[in-house]
Amino acid sequence: MSYFSTRGGAVVTASQAILTGLAPGGGLYVPAMFPQVDRQWIAALNAMPYARRAEAVLSLYLEDYTAQEIAGAVDAAYSAERFDDPAIAPVRRLDGNTWLLELFHGPTLAFKDMALQLLPHLVRQAARKAGEEREISILVATSGDTGKAALEGFRDVPGTSCTVFYPEEGVSDIQKLQMTTTGGGNTRVIAVEGNFDDAQTGVKQLFASPDFAARMGEKGRVLSSANSINFGRLVPQVVYYFSAYADLCAAGGVAAGEPVNFVVPTGNFGDILAGWYAKNMGLPVNKLICASNRNNVLTDFFASGTYSTHRLFYKTTSPSMDILVSSNLERLLYETADRDGELVSVWMKQLREVGSYSVGDQRREQLSKTFAAGCADDRQTAAEIHALFRRTGCVIDTHTGVAAKVLADYRAETGDSTPAVIVSTASPYKFCADVLTALQGKEATAGKDAFACAAELEKLSGVPVPKQVSALRELPVLHSRRCTRDVQAMADAVLAD
Ligand SMILES: *Cc1c(COP(=O)(O)O)cnc(C)c1O
Repeated sequence: MSYFSTRGGAVVTASQAILTGLAPGGGLYVPAMFPQVDRQWIAALNAMPYARRAEAVLSLYLEDYTAQEIAGAVDAAYSAERFDDPAIAPVRRLDGNTWLLELFHGPTLAFKDMALQLLPHLVRQAARKAGEEREISILVATSGDTGKAALEGFRDVPGTSCTVFYPEEGVSDIQKLQMTTTGGGNTRVIAVEGNFDDAQTGVKQLFASPDFAARMGEKGRVLSSANSINFGRLVPQVVYYFSAYADLCAAGGVAAGEPVNFVVPTGNFGDILAGWYAKNMGLPVNKLICASNRNNVLTDFFASGTYSTHRLFYKTTSPSMDILVSSNLERLLYETADRDGELVSVWMKQLREVGSYSVGDQRREQLSKTFAAGCADDRQTAAEIHALFRRTGCVIDTHTGVAAKVLADYRAETGDSTPAVIVSTASPYKFCADVLTALQGKEATAGKDAFACAAELEKLSGVPVPKQVSALRELPVLHSRRCTRDVQAMADAVLAD
């Protein structure tokens, strides 16, 4: 199967799309078509462990990877050493016809592991196919979750290195510790004196700098990206939608062939887009419900057909969804525009130049057949976390809380009683102070550090503190490098040693 650019033109293989990340001219790679599966194909997933389900889906997309390469990659990624639940992405019933798909059982306790445990293997195999002998140097700017997931994915993968820039004052205590205690001989973690935008702007400038590329080249290194616009991050995410459906059938939550709804806490639109790919392949999905926090640019887009970044940026208790430009939406726009790359280019140019674009009423209506959207602020989210705990005994994190609230609103508004899966993207232990506050009020966290809050949550939920969190206490801090937000300083930090 070939891959096209959302802005027209390029035709590449899967491995080329994964190795280069972004298409020339700034477009994103999309598959030439959606491979189709039937009911028997989906039913056969029932009997398979997660790694085999992943193999089945990936082999439909990654045609220039051998069966052996794909099998090797999924076995290495989705193993008992790396995930603390044998189902890898377990589904559990919350109540009635509401289910939770838990995507946080990987090494960094957030859903980014589902893709970033696999991506390094795909990148390495792609480099081999391309005859690339230089070191593949991954650069990441992170607001928290992506950085650690990339570090864990790439650490000690031969032929690669991974450098992460994080804003010194912009990540949670647990997130900072997770990153600065990372081992491995090929990892670098650098605090930028600034906010997330400073870190991200610097990294983007490094990617665009011929001078930096030349200096890297002299050291036998070539830049690559692990961020969520890489197709190699999208395709592993398609797997868990199929996997969840198979598990739901097995648990009697839905009869084979009956539709389900998925509600997805959304930032960059990568996670929910994978669900839409699954639907296009033939998975019986009724609605994909896009849940946003107070940064509700997508809620407005689905309601009005206009995407506008003329708005304030809010810091919320669900920081991984604090985003104004959802890059992966471009892949949906491409299909909405009937694969007219020129039209997508025009919209993206308008976004860059005037901060907004409109897709028109007809396309908006078309989208609303599949997508619903809603938002919840921090207060509503905390109330939902509290209510859900009271009702079910289950403790969810702040991102998942946004989705739970949006689902409740959607059901009240529409009366749609289709079985629904809430995609749970992080462990509550990753955001324990905010979760504890939601459950017991602000006083409950007074004077407590993250570990004390975690201990408190354990008492309430009965779910043991994951070892990934408790181990942080003992692990030595291995990375203490800092740099200013000046791009030259960032370049030097990557090139040092
Ligand atoms: C990244 C992230 C999201 C948002 O996912 P997108 O693919 O960017 O929409 C939601 N929740 C958590 C915990 C995340 O880390």
